[in-house]
Amino acid sequence: MSLDWESNPPYSNVKQDDKLIKYNASCYCGLVKYVIYDEYPVDSTYCHCHGCQQLQGAPYQWACIFPKASLYFLSGLDSLKFYNSDENIQDHILPCKVSCKQCSSPLADEGRRMWLAFPQTFKQFRLSETVREKLKASCHIFYGQRTISSDCFKNDGLPKFQGHKNKSNIILDQDI
Ligand SMILES: [Zn+2]
Ligand SMILES: [Zn+2]
Repeated sequence: MSLDWESNPPYSNVKQDDKLIKYNASCYCGLVKYVIYDEYPVDSTYCHCHGCQQLQGAPYQWACIFPKASLYFLSGLDSLKFYNSDENIQDHILPCKVSCKQCSSPLADEGRRMWLAFPQTFKQFRLSETVREKLKASCHIFYGQRTISSDCFKNDGLPKFQGHKNKSNIILDQDI
């Protein structure tokens, strides 16, 4: 059992100046709140794998990847729920899913060094097209497992990888 997660980033991070906050994230019920200080994610992807579909309860998962150092938790550390899908246990074993115990809304996928945030949880995301542009996905991954109609993304200009980014074949729009 890993009980020391609270003493590691991003949970142990120190608060920075409020002026540096770029995104305010929260779960649906508002118990869990954290901020992100980086304006641009390291990468942003739409993942169409079966695991993301089921765990997210959505046709695909949009994840914006930030270094753990750019986060600060304002509240709700005691309301976090972790799930490791490889071992099928609710424990903080990385990589794991992070959600809210109370409202069950998914917050992020936590990797060893990176935090894959779901921009639906960002307050700013709902407000401006400029923000949507900054968080825009660079590609589709696991497009071979998609459940949503190909018409939704046809000719969107983004590469569509069969599996992992840059490590699998690209599915061409003309072939679907
Ligand atoms: Zn909640
Ligand atoms: Zn996935």
